[in-house]
Amino acid sequence: MAEAALLDGKALATKLRTALASELARLRREARLAPGLAVVLVGDDPASQIYVRTKTRQCEEVGIKSFAHRLPADVRQEDLLTLIRGLNRDPRVHGILVQLPLPAAIDEAEVLAAVDPDKDVDGFHVVNAGRLFAGISGALVPCTPQGCLRLIKSRVPKLAGLKALVLGRSNIVGKPMAMLLLAEHCTVTMAHSHTFDLPGECRAADILVAAVGRPELVRGDWIKPGAIVIDVGINRLDNGGEKAKLLGDVAFEEARRVASAITPVPGGVGPMTVACLLRNTVIAACRANDLEEPAF
Ligand code: NDP
Repeated sequence: MAEAALLDGKALATKLRTALASELARLRREARLAPGLAVVLVGDDPASQIYVRTKTRQCEEVGIKSFAHRLPADVRQEDLLTLIRGLNRDPRVHGILVQLPLPAAIDEAEVLAAVDPDKDVDGFHVVNAGRLFAGISGALVPCTPQGCLRLIKSRVPKLAGLKALVLGRSNIVGKPMAMLLLAEHCTVTMAHSHTFDLPGECRAADILVAAVGRPELVRGDWIKPGAIVIDVGINRLDNGGEKAKLLGDVAFEEARRVASAITPVPGGVGPMTVACLLRNTVIAACRANDLEEPAF
């Protein structure tokens, strides 16, 4: 069998950002609208700092104003909530992102619930999760699964009837991913740490999305020949002082000999996640101003 095609998230994200940049220019010109994204970072987790830097830089590049708020790890819950309530009221801010994970002393659920659902560009608020679950229009869809779906559809535009397996059931990736695939009329199975016969479940899937956070858990012989494989996992392997090596949840070299298409790590899902965040911010800004949303 031929080697799998690479699903190039970097290239697809660049295409999406280019389309967003011209949409943003149009909004500025025709509606004098300058969408804004507030990013809240608590503590000094190195990976979170990199993510926040990437997000704010890409905002500026496409023409979204970014407002970064950096708070110490020992910030009081009430002070964090006060900041979020202020951002909810701020008309320059159309999207609010609270970078996760939050320090253990912070009640994450309370913080996410404090974000105005119309500004919840991460799509983590229960109102947006509920809309997605119920199939009601208007949900702001979580960025990582949104990016995964775009990658899948770049290869196979019509997914109806295909068997999809989502490995991992977190609120931020696995569950919304399953809902999106269900809405595309896939037959969806969700697998997790209690699943019997994980390899067997994977082998039945035409589309396999792995979001477990276990380096190379999914082996080549777990994959149905010709399947599409989306690897969400980002596992940092300490390289003894060298730059950390990134590994996905899928054994890439084995999998690419069996799958028809596969995302690399890095350069697959990661860039799409950020591009979809920018897209959600533009959508939130259009909705707040009763303007037509971008069609892409
Ligand atoms: P969570 O830790 O919240 O969830 C992991 C899921 O995997 C759980 O449902 C867990 O099952 C399941 N799981 C763990 N170990 C196994 C196992 N051995 N067999 C079967 N299932 C298992 O992770 P996230 O969803 O937040 O993230 C998953 C991965 O994706 C991480 O590597 C993360 O870094 C990455 N990620 C990447 C993003 C990107 O932009 N590329 C964005 C977000 C996340 P159970 O529920 O039973 O415990």
